[in-house]
Amino acid sequence: DSEMCYEWSREVCSVLRDVFKLPGFRRNQLEAINATLAGRDVFVLMPTGGGKSLCYQLPALVFGGKTKGTTIVISPLISLMQDQVEHLLEKGIKAAMVSSRGDAAARRNTFQQLKSGDLSLLYVSPEMLTTNSQLRNVISSLYHRNSLARIVIDEAHCVSSWGHDFRPDYKQLGQFKEDFPNVPLIALTATANERVRLDIVFNLKITGCALFTQSFNRPNLYYEVRDKQRDVLAEIKELMKVKYPGKSGIIYCHSKNSCEETATKLNRLGLKVTYYHAGMDPEERLQVQIGWQEGRYQAICATVAFGMGIDKADVRFVIHYTLPRNLEGYYQETGRAGRDGLPSECILYYAYRDATSIMTMIDRDKDIDYDTKEKQRTFLKQVLQYCENQTDCRRHQVLQYFNEKFDSKDCRNQCDNCRIATVCEFETRDITEVTKDIIRTVLAIQGDNVTMLHCMDVFRGAKTAKIQGAGHNNVPGYAAGKDVDRTDMERIFHHLVAQSILKESAVVNRSGFATSYLRVGSRGVALLSGTEKLSLTFLKNGAA
Ligand code: ADP
Ligand code: ZN
Repeated sequence: DSEMCYEWSREVCSVLRDVFKLPGFRRNQLEAINATLAGRDVFVLMPTGGGKSLCYQLPALVFGGKTKGTTIVISPLISLMQDQVEHLLEKGIKAAMVSSRGDAAARRNTFQQLKSGDLSLLYVSPEMLTTNSQLRNVISSLYHRNSLARIVIDEAHCVSSWGHDFRPDYKQLGQFKEDFPNVPLIALTATANERVRLDIVFNLKITGCALFTQSFNRPNLYYEVRDKQRDVLAEIKELMKVKYPGKSGIIYCHSKNSCEETATKLNRLGLKVTYYHAGMDPEERLQVQIGWQEGRYQAICATVAFGMGIDKADVRFVIHYTLPRNLEGYYQETGRAGRDGLPSECILYYAYRDATSIMTMIDRDKDIDYDTKEKQRTFLKQVLQYCENQTDCRRHQVLQYFNEKFDSKDCRNQCDNCRIATVCEFETRDITEVTKDIIRTVLAIQGDNVTMLHCMDVFRGAKTAKIQGAGHNNVPGYAAGKDVDRTDMERIFHHLVAQSILKESAVVNRSGFATSYLRVGSRGVALLSGTEKLSLTFLKNGAA
């Protein structure tokens, strides 16, 4: 029996059964546990809810292996640590945490326990490691007494500035492998595209690690992008009252205000909904969370702060009321639906104007540097491409982002695009010439600071006073698109922004208002003189 081939296997099984009270392992758990007990560095990629914690909590209690002593867990979220420590203590496992929140006496006590080797697991925040030299000294002395069992880096994508949740304090975690070269390290994350993954391995200095990865596909989730022009609130009401009566969901909004407003509007429609965001005090948030978990609220209008570390298995719908800022976040947020494996829905309401306003927010954000802004713009354009894409399987697109090949046949019509494909035909059209016309139009008038809407009007040959006043009816490209269908034209413009052929940038006027103006992007100029061809897939006319 391959499960019994290690000296610690018997112990592993009894800890699983007697301490964690679980009937068996899930995918990759035992493999990861064996690798770390064998002293290897380990990298675990598992979707949210996959069972990452067990991969390091169980080995922390197995002493038949090479390692004895304390496991140090680095985790970015204090609430998450608290939760885990409580669960461990309930199971009779000696665990504690050190964070900026605890008082001095509690911390002294924890250090005392740590020094005397009383703790199986110690959770620490990365900030603590940076700022508290006493903590570093205690860990170091554990090491010198051979009592540092292993180091765990939870939410390891925070190491990468290419991840969606980079934390500067994570950068220095690479120091562990230098200071304690023979202590096995475990890095775990639910999200990592190729680039982030390489970053993690490189930054943590675990190039020889054993990698455990698995498909990120969530077969029970249905994905759909809906046009936000229609009556969104009435649709949400329908979904909650008719399709999922008495079932729970999350409605993601982009700001605190929007959370509160949306919740109020849904209340007026007779729905039990409340809101959750970072502006509320912790006690209030806890009450909301509990109310939702116990079913007193059917749904919560929340910012992306909601959901991390929340273990509710029967979330039936996740709605994005506005565009997510990146696909990683989108995957995470939708991933909170259907953890019990039962069918659940993920609906994204898309309006191009939301992308424009997020772009503006990025442009205007004073707290981030140029590189970060560029990354955020790139992320947003990927979301835009996803939303604008009306033909490719959603699963295929999301998983491609994680460099996972997914055959859309396996979607089984569990996304809007696959469903449409069963009743409609598509055609791929060459849009090179019309794109060149658009570029010429924009080049001719961008010096006058013009909006996308204005450019579309010029391109279509509208005769507005604004156009005539600016003399834009005499520029090259005016009316070049008079024969292009309006909806198609809008799609093409949006597609060109997503492709960096056009770009929108915010300009702030004297009164502090920002307007987005359209310009030709880096790729646009090259395209005009080059031989590159562009195409776009459309639903065949009349087929719908
Ligand atoms: P992650 O950190 O990957 O999001 P968790 O470690 O929090 O996931 O585990 C998610 C849920 O799955 C928890 O409720 C946990 O108890 C449960 N779980 C983990 N491993 C197993 C297992 N082998 N068998 C059954 N349930 C498990
Ligand atoms: Zn599909």
